[in-house]
Amino acid sequence: MTGFQSTTPGALDTVRATLAKLRSVPELADRYADIVALDSLEDLVHAPVMVKDDLNVALEHLKPKAHQGATWTFQSGGSTGSPKLGYAPTGLYMDEVYAQWKPLGPDDVFVNGWGAGKLWGAHYLFGAYADLTGCTGIGLGAINRAEYDVWLEFFAARGVTALGGTPSVLRPILGHARETGVKLPDLRTVLWLGEAWNPGLDEDIPAVAPNARRWGLYGSTETWVAGTNTPDCPADTWHLLPSQLVHVGENQLLDFTSLKPHGLNPVLRYRTGDAGEWVTCTCGEPGRALRILGRRDGEVKFRGLLLNVDAMLGAVSGQPGVSRAQILITEYPTRGATLEVLVVPARDAAPGLAERVREHILQSAFGGPSTSFHRDPESLGVRLVEDLISNDRTGKTSGLVQRQAQ
Ligand SMILES: [Zn+2]
Repeated sequence: MTGFQSTTPGALDTVRATLAKLRSVPELADRYADIVALDSLEDLVHAPVMVKDDLNVALEHLKPKAHQGATWTFQSGGSTGSPKLGYAPTGLYMDEVYAQWKPLGPDDVFVNGWGAGKLWGAHYLFGAYADLTGCTGIGLGAINRAEYDVWLEFFAARGVTALGGTPSVLRPILGHARETGVKLPDLRTVLWLGEAWNPGLDEDIPAVAPNARRWGLYGSTETWVAGTNTPDCPADTWHLLPSQLVHVGENQLLDFTSLKPHGLNPVLRYRTGDAGEWVTCTCGEPGRALRILGRRDGEVKFRGLLLNVDAMLGAVSGQPGVSRAQILITEYPTRGATLEVLVVPARDAAPGLAERVREHILQSAFGGPSTSFHRDPESLGVRLVEDLISNDRTGKTSGLVQRQAQ
């Protein structure tokens, strides 16, 4: 057993067509030269794994077009330089999601809080989903802190029943509502996608909207929506869509193959960087579910030494008075890199928080970097901030930000 099975009709034909497309890309032809035919899905075990750069090269050559309607382009990776484009047809493949996942219905008043524009797909994806449900939609997009009060008042007055966004956008809004005593008794549904669930929301939501529960989508711009979950599933566990063939490979790294008959991105054993394992979901739905274990690229080099970002953030976040934290590494041309821990203090934080966090980091063993902090105390800083650094385009907040000094 190779782990490549699917009961989706036409799966083998779809995969063969994708392979033919990839072989037609001059820069990739050599990679696929050895796979002459696919007799079954099991033969995918012989196909090479793709990463983002391979997909970008393929899309640059193929420039896919939808069979009907418009072809939409979204940003697919490429953190620097000109945007790399991924493609999706009108409707953004949401029919399949709606068939499996129904948090919204015609009576819902849904606020779409994903940032709009700038090639980020989530806002439009949820617009396409809302079309299928017959709900009443409110296109909110990105809002800033100064606007929270007026919008929360609007949500309460309109009887908003559903609110969606990335967890790092939802957390400050609902956290603010909790701190200021706003209640949203009509809110039943919190929709999320774009990053892992933020457990802080499990404290904010019951205080603000006791009837609300979370419903998530999992995927990436390249694979599009891969799985869905419900309030009865753990936040890291997903039920895959029929058009997603997922394989757990070495080091538990996942690769995705698209079984969409008219899919535009040639996704064939595409590795996103996420690791995962098969589980039985506690919601009771039969069959296997995919539990996401996080990224396997969570280690970065700091002054030549390996630093585990998640471990350090976990240790800092567990300190009393810390609401949220982020690591900022700045590379200087002459003096080497510095590491700053940005900390958003909780409202009840006692004075001297930055000094306590710094002391805690120095006393904890974080592998190599600890030596560096002791050798050069100025290489470590702890700074209290009002907000973490987030991506203006997507509203996502990453645990690690790396910068070059100007
Ligand atoms: Zn489940």
